[in-house]
Amino acid sequence: STDSLGVAPILTKLQKDCATPLPVLRHVADAMADDMRAGLAVDGGSDLKMILSYVDTLPTGNEKGLFYALDLGGTNFRVLRVQLGGKEERVVATEFEQVSIPPELMFATSEELFDFIASALGKFAQKEGGKFELQQGRAREIGFTFSFPVKQTSIRTGILIKWTKGFAVSGTAGKDVVACLNEAMERRGMDMQVSALVNDTVGTLAGARYWDDDAMVAVILGTGTNACYVERVDAIPKLTKRMSKSPITIVNTEWGAFSNGLPLTEFDREMDAESINPGEQIFEKTISGMYLGEIVRRVLVKMAKVGGLFGGSYVPEKLVTPFVLRTPDICAMQQDTSRDLEAVESVLYDVAGVKSDLSARKTVVDICDTIAKRGGRLAGAGIVGILQKMEEDSKGLIFGKRTVVAMDGGLYEHYPQYRGYLQEAVTELLGSEISKNVVIEHAKDGSGIGAALLAAANSKYE
Ligand code: ADP
Repeated sequence: STDSLGVAPILTKLQKDCATPLPVLRHVADAMADDMRAGLAVDGGSDLKMILSYVDTLPTGNEKGLFYALDLGGTNFRVLRVQLGGKEERVVATEFEQVSIPPELMFATSEELFDFIASALGKFAQKEGGKFELQQGRAREIGFTFSFPVKQTSIRTGILIKWTKGFAVSGTAGKDVVACLNEAMERRGMDMQVSALVNDTVGTLAGARYWDDDAMVAVILGTGTNACYVERVDAIPKLTKRMSKSPITIVNTEWGAFSNGLPLTEFDREMDAESINPGEQIFEKTISGMYLGEIVRRVLVKMAKVGGLFGGSYVPEKLVTPFVLRTPDICAMQQDTSRDLEAVESVLYDVAGVKSDLSARKTVVDICDTIAKRGGRLAGAGIVGILQKMEEDSKGLIFGKRTVVAMDGGLYEHYPQYRGYLQEAVTELLGSEISKNVVIEHAKDGSGIGAALLAAANSKYE
């Protein structure tokens, strides 16, 4: 590394640009709360869509009977059944299966796709037995988690806006996806019907609430990110026609689109400009699993080019490919406690084909930490923004008693440093007293059972 600037000035600048001291966190939390209000006032009023979920009955624990869930959000879908035994017995039994969608169906017609899903669900239902028992005279009810953009108009209707994530199915856009599934099940003479259409964050909140009455917010930190929370109906100016008598409803924030006051770097700006959705989902691009590894990769390329990270101006060819360095890789490097940083060495060798010296490996770990720290702390500030908004509208509701924030998603689950930074920011923002009342906890796999619980809570037979 003779003619180069060295890595130090680049690392220092990165750390400065990514810094999230308390005033920055406070600004983000306040801006999140303001954007939430603007999005609740009028459709299109803010970066945050603040979508009404039409879920205004959360599980209580008293639900009884057999319910199904179907989770469609990618190239796999999951089917699940649960036998609920009420307050004492709770979950008597559950069973699930994962089915992969044949690639050709991603380019098929709507009928073909939904026929395939109905058929898999039908086969799964036929294997029902043992502790599972449907109440006499009832059809099997399904909670349908559908993780594509829909315009929901009731608890059981939602118009598909467009397919995403590689799906190019013809004839579904503009149609009610619940009707599509119900019709496919009717065509096969099945006695099953959808009782609740739910977003995955809403399912997570329902799953957490079933076990804990204090669950008020759910956050997903996986490939992408989103959050939902319990809102007062009278705090939603844009809600004109009331669908039920319930004083509360769940609002899906779509907070990945938040962008106000985030500390961004040249690497973030370049990644955004080259993305398929430039200018969109900026919060998601700063805090979620799809992007953290890619940001680190971009820093490494620059350090190799002008900082002599791998000697001279040598840039490993493999490292130039976008998204080759994944978030699980940077997570693995941060877990390395060996003196020679052997795990870092092997990730760099496997991913980038590069031999590194100890000082380069240390720099790489510092970069990973900088990006994970910013992401975790900003996610924490976002959570405080939601809590703050709720507390402002109902004094004492959140900070005056125990409140649970249910977390799910692979990033939160598997990245301990990220989790630690998130908690640290929440504690800094709320102070040690109030933060004792705010419990941020992992709701493992809440969303699967959550959808079935929402089918139960919104059953047609009650
Ligand atoms: P999805 O969000 O794709 O529906 P998950 O909630 O399981 O599914 O999240 C998967 C994401 O979690 C991955 O894309 C990755 O970004 C992140 N992730 C998975 N494993 C790890 C890990 N060991 N360390 C850090 N992040 C991880």
